[in-house]
Amino acid sequence: MTSNLCLVCHHNASKTLYPGILKCTECGYVYADMTLTDEELFALYNEAFFTGAEFDDYAGDEVFFRKNFRLRIRELKKFIDPARHKDLLEIGSAYGFFLDEVRSEFDSVQGIDITEAGVRHAREQFHLDVVEGDFLSHDYGAQKFDVVCLWDTIEHVRSPHLYVEKIAHHTEPGALLAITTADIDSVNGRVRGRRWRMIHPPTHLHYFSRETLTRLLESYGFEVVYNHYCGFYRSIGQMAYNVLVLRQQKPRLFRVIQKAGIEKLGLYLNLYDIMFVIARRL
Ligand SMILES: [Zn+2]
Repeated sequence: MTSNLCLVCHHNASKTLYPGILKCTECGYVYADMTLTDEELFALYNEAFFTGAEFDDYAGDEVFFRKNFRLRIRELKKFIDPARHKDLLEIGSAYGFFLDEVRSEFDSVQGIDITEAGVRHAREQFHLDVVEGDFLSHDYGAQKFDVVCLWDTIEHVRSPHLYVEKIAHHTEPGALLAITTADIDSVNGRVRGRRWRMIHPPTHLHYFSRETLTRLLESYGFEVVYNHYCGFYRSIGQMAYNVLVLRQQKPRLFRVIQKAGIEKLGLYLNLYDIMFVIARRL
């Protein structure tokens, strides 16, 4: 048992699901059993996060991230009314690839990220309006957004409920909130258990399901209008890096793949364990 209140249902009732991972016995919300300071958390997201700690070569895989973002945009556009949805904010904008892909669809696109290297890249390469900082502490004044996106981001932040609360504050009814994150209740998540590739604290702190994410969004005035598993493109190099270097500690095998010259080939995968959720502000 822990004294932490569940951020989804506010009960104080959890059990250990896997070592270091807790599950609320009331609502089923799953989260890492750790309390990080801002300094400890932000230190995870330096340039090394994108160049070795989590990604082998994020910027070098730009073509694959852009393909993924075009898939997300295609779905998101089904809910976009160009007369209503004009200003977009991406939280966790990384190197700016999504904002650069989507900028022609909106009057304005803005981003925020805590990684200096990504923010610099987005500004210098794409001339994007991106802030370096933490969304929760950044002062947006009275600014309102029509679309807010968090791609593979909500699982990384310390307090997702405070993010959703602040997003609600900076949106008006009819605004859209788009999120991708892993589904711990997916078949793959259940079968793989503690060895599921998405279980890796301290960068992944939150393990939502359709049920717990919907409940969190509803408690701050959002209605889920779309929830599908989404596929993604990955380079063979990144997939091999995840498996061989990060999980199995076999860097020599990874170098064999690099030498074979196939690391920048891409594959499309849908493991039916990544949720793409679009919610509308009520
Ligand atoms: Zn709960």
